[in-house]
Amino acid sequence: MGIAQRYQHVLNEVAEQCRMAGRSPEEVTLVAVSKTVGLDGVAEAIEGGAFDFGENRPDQLVPKHEAYPQVNWHMIGNIQSRRIADIVGAATLIHSVNHEEHARKIDRVAERMGKVQDILIEVNVSGEASKSGVTPAEAGELVRLADSLDHVRVRGLMTMAPEGDLVVARETFDGLAALFAEIKPTLGDDATYFDELSMGMSEDWREAIDAGATIVRIGRAIFSDAFEE
Ligand SMILES: *Cc1c(COP(=O)(O)O)cnc(C)c1O
Repeated sequence: MGIAQRYQHVLNEVAEQCRMAGRSPEEVTLVAVSKTVGLDGVAEAIEGGAFDFGENRPDQLVPKHEAYPQVNWHMIGNIQSRRIADIVGAATLIHSVNHEEHARKIDRVAERMGKVQDILIEVNVSGEASKSGVTPAEAGELVRLADSLDHVRVRGLMTMAPEGDLVVARETFDGLAALFAEIKPTLGDDATYFDELSMGMSEDWREAIDAGATIVRIGRAIFSDAFEE
């Protein structure tokens, strides 16, 4: 299978998993994480019907957005303050905001660009030292702070599960969903657009959909011919 076919295959599997979980496939956006391929790989995925792409580095995000501005670009990687202008210029949704200063700078840059930037707050639910994100205890405060900024809209939460254990992955995703349900009612009128849970990658997206993911971020299962679950 090529990239276009694998994208179609994953898309169908995501829809099937939604139905098995009693959910509508329309509730879940498949973000094709294209960080391991070049522009030609992105073109193949677009041919396969992909409309949302994820990148974890600005030096990939910016040129790919420039080449294909007609699709949505998601920034899913670590944010460096000095690259925020590049990120805001290219990203439909920034998944990985985990510092107050970054939220404030995104707000200032977005204002200058005449844009309201959609973001997610990244939470380290599992507590693994290698994972970035705020602690679950800090998440509500950062959501409310970012939500108070005029040119930032907090759309929800994002997490990454520890690798290699699907039971732990499911617990992690359930933890993010519970935190989301706890924070949402504290947002008043703004709660209506706090509606996204970005969780699940090539190895654990089924668990994420069962736990309520609205965005899954899938790289290798689409772009690598060597990927096996
Ligand atoms: C690379 C990456 C993914 C995709 O991972 P795969 O295992 O290749 O599906 C998802 N989310 C983030 C934050 C990533 O960096």
